[in-house]
Amino acid sequence: MSSVPTILWFRRDLRLADHPALVAAIEHARATGSPLLPIFVWEPGLVHGARSSANRTWFLRESIAELSAALTERGSGLIELEGPATSALPALVAQLRGAGNATAPISLFITRDHTPYARSRDRAIAEKLAPLGVALHAKRGLSVVEPDELLTGGGTPYGVYTPYFRRWLERIAADLHAPLQAPTQLPPLPAGLHHSPLARAASGADTPPTAARALLPVPGERAARAAADAWIEAAARRAGVASYAEQRDLLADETGTSRLSAALHFGLISPSELVHRLRDVASAQPWVRQLAWRDFYIQVLWHAPHAARASWRPAYDAIPWEQHDEPFNAWCEGRTGYPVVDAAMRQLLATGFMHNRARMIAASFLTKDLLVDWRRGEGHFLNHLIDGDIAANNGGWQWSAGSGTDAQPYFRIFNPVAQGERFDPDGAYVRRWVPELAALSAPAIHAPWKHPEACAGAGITLGAQYPEPIVDHAVARARTLAAFAHALKK
Ligand SMILES: Cc1cc2nc3c(=O)[nH]c(=O)nc-3n(C[C@H](O)[C@H](O)[C@H](O)COP(=O)(O)OP(=O)(O)OC[C@H]3O[C@@H](n4cnc5c(N)ncnc54)[C@H](O)[C@@H]3O)c2cc1C
Repeated sequence: MSSVPTILWFRRDLRLADHPALVAAIEHARATGSPLLPIFVWEPGLVHGARSSANRTWFLRESIAELSAALTERGSGLIELEGPATSALPALVAQLRGAGNATAPISLFITRDHTPYARSRDRAIAEKLAPLGVALHAKRGLSVVEPDELLTGGGTPYGVYTPYFRRWLERIAADLHAPLQAPTQLPPLPAGLHHSPLARAASGADTPPTAARALLPVPGERAARAAADAWIEAAARRAGVASYAEQRDLLADETGTSRLSAALHFGLISPSELVHRLRDVASAQPWVRQLAWRDFYIQVLWHAPHAARASWRPAYDAIPWEQHDEPFNAWCEGRTGYPVVDAAMRQLLATGFMHNRARMIAASFLTKDLLVDWRRGEGHFLNHLIDGDIAANNGGWQWSAGSGTDAQPYFRIFNPVAQGERFDPDGAYVRRWVPELAALSAPAIHAPWKHPEACAGAGITLGAQYPEPIVDHAVARARTLAAFAHALKK
């Protein structure tokens, strides 16, 4: 019997179901007869950092509140600490030691996190805690396949998706654990430690989301599970996961994709569990492939941490990016004069979400039409996206800029008008997010400057209600191809 607690540190795994670190911590607590201490640490960067987002903070805070209630219902609770973790955890251990456990070893369980920041933080914490008699136990759970589990035949990391995906499929066919049940009962908190008063200042408790609350996804594990179940069960009606391949690129279709990205980012639902439920369902394979993209970008950044701040292909650091602020500001605010780009950017500001096809169009436009550094776009996305995720966002931006893992790098330049016509054929997406163009029908709505009569008929004066295009796409395309070719020749 031991009174020294087993600690479980929740990070991006805010769930009770299919949680290997939670199960291991419970087993350890039972085996040693120790109390279980679940904690969450409010790292300052989660709330106030240059890459933080009021939308994401709100979603996180609400999800934490639900997790805390779920732990309490099961006889435990959640202690929230004010970060940074590198000082909060040693202070916690000192407090536990002061409670009469001067030398007893302490076990701390975590789910491995793979971002460069998380890795260096966890290294620093392990170093600080080891001399205090604390052993760190890191378990899988954030991705389906761990980033260091798949290497090419030559022992190098994968930089191309298709062969990675092939190996990933082999791996999940051979070795994927069945989802672990959520515990119904938990060991108690250590005596004297009660539910923490929420670390209010650190949690940004009074910061509201910048997007409209009604348009944000419902936080918490329960809602994530309900959304995942509905997405999977709709297969019977040829909807949800079953119609994904046909619907996923249609910009106006709000049910064509799962909208599970924020839940996956915070670990409200286990990606392994989703794959386990779907790996043998033929119609679900195009969607399972997207979950593998998530793992792919996690392992890209794991093996090439330099890509968090610089080009994955180092030669692309020589691109001479545009230095003026105005094109970037016009893009951020959705006033480029290209309706599908503006709709995308306004969807982001209004909802904290952007359709995947729209993300590709908007990112291509910023980097290839406006020649603005992808890092500025990446930062703007992180400041607003409810699913803002270091690996997926960085991967998506570098893919779009040409500096990343795309097999045909810089000469892929999306034509924003053609993309609008193809993926928003009746203009419903533009009409929803750019209401000043709502009276135009397709195809005029995707290129109003080419349709002066339709504009006049709808009472729209370009330059007044809606801007003229800030660049000519054909001219911009030629400028970018020349700039990239020149920089890469050096
Ligand atoms: C420039 C750019 C930036 C992006 N930034 C992010 C980001 O910050 N966070 C984020 O989660 N995704 C990001 N993506 C990927 C993708 O756009 C979103 O995951 C997707 O739109 C979320 O909607 P969904 O949950 O309905 O996706 P679904 O189509 O239902 O896909 C299911 C899940 O698979 C994963 N996924 C899908 N596509 C990708 C992809 N290309 N890369 C990695 N994972 C993927 C997500 O977890 C997603 O929830 C970005 C893509 C681009 C092009």
